[in-house]
Amino acid sequence: MAKTFTPKLLHWFDQFGRHDLPWQKQKTAYRVWLSEIMLQQTQVKTVIDYFHRFIERFPNVKTLATANSDEVLHLWAGLGYYARARNLHRAAQIIQEQYNGRFPRTVEALQQLPGVGRSTAGAIVAIAFGDKAVILDGNVKRVLSRVYAVEGSPLDKNVIDNLWAIAEKLTPVERIGDYTQAIMDLGATLCTRNQPRCGDCPLQSLCKAYHLNRVEDFPAKKAKKEKPTRDVHLILLENNAQQILLHKRPDSGIWGGLWCLPEVLEKEAISLWCTQNNLKKYAVQPSLAPIKHVLTHFTLQIHVHPVKCVAGKSRTSNAKLGTWTALPALISLGFPAPIQKLFKRYYND
Ligand code: SF4
Repeated sequence: MAKTFTPKLLHWFDQFGRHDLPWQKQKTAYRVWLSEIMLQQTQVKTVIDYFHRFIERFPNVKTLATANSDEVLHLWAGLGYYARARNLHRAAQIIQEQYNGRFPRTVEALQQLPGVGRSTAGAIVAIAFGDKAVILDGNVKRVLSRVYAVEGSPLDKNVIDNLWAIAEKLTPVERIGDYTQAIMDLGATLCTRNQPRCGDCPLQSLCKAYHLNRVEDFPAKKAKKEKPTRDVHLILLENNAQQILLHKRPDSGIWGGLWCLPEVLEKEAISLWCTQNNLKKYAVQPSLAPIKHVLTHFTLQIHVHPVKCVAGKSRTSNAKLGTWTALPALISLGFPAPIQKLFKRYYND
């Protein structure tokens, strides 16, 4: 299989693969790493703009390592999975401090960096350094599961081990960067999760799932669970100096490390919260229409409760209460996507 798989794939890639993505130009380990992290859980068309903005502000490891975490999160805001941005920042600091700003060149060393798994490390080594390394991201898992008709859940350890072994066997030494890009491309553009374009696929003659007429069966689907809904109650507290009170969320949990509005358990807890925070004159306004925000494992129902108050002594900041921020400054902070939309809608209308 390996003898024909790779030439067919590379032949297709030369003709139809993507060769002009921004991270394919001036290929450095930094650019490849950044694109690989951004592309986890996110589609290419969404990533392109973020990649350009990030590279413009942080053109190399040093600028990222020495940046303020708020600025990193701000440039990431909207991409979701914020742990990726925090790990990226920490990893840049490690590369800067421990490796003098140069990326380690082996899969083993790269895997020690926060947020870098075996497949991402393999992609960096193969694409940026041109050394043989194996990858197995979601797209590659799907392609190999179908071509080899691998039964069993792709979450099962034995199945994953089997797929790594297949990937290892297929990975060539020659043109390793192109091969790595090609197999990811094929999974992203032809061998897609839904409605794969088998008619255009260079691997059709080799593909067991295709010949068994069972393409839809591979990889085995996860049992669908109903997504639970979680209610979140946020206070949009504005004082008469036109400042909004912001809280920085803890690093763990949703929107970790991002600025947000203060949260209470329920609407009825707002008065108690105001009293506990020594807000003397305040008025709770009618709540805004709830905002629905779908995350991977649950759906958030975000209830926003505007409260007006009089600016007190703690006008700029008070660690316990939060940080008062003037409306124009809201633009420069990193907020979760639904909160960013809320500010735009609420203050632009
Ligand atoms: S023939 Fe179809 S299922 Fe098989 S690898 Fe190609 S696109 Fe995927």
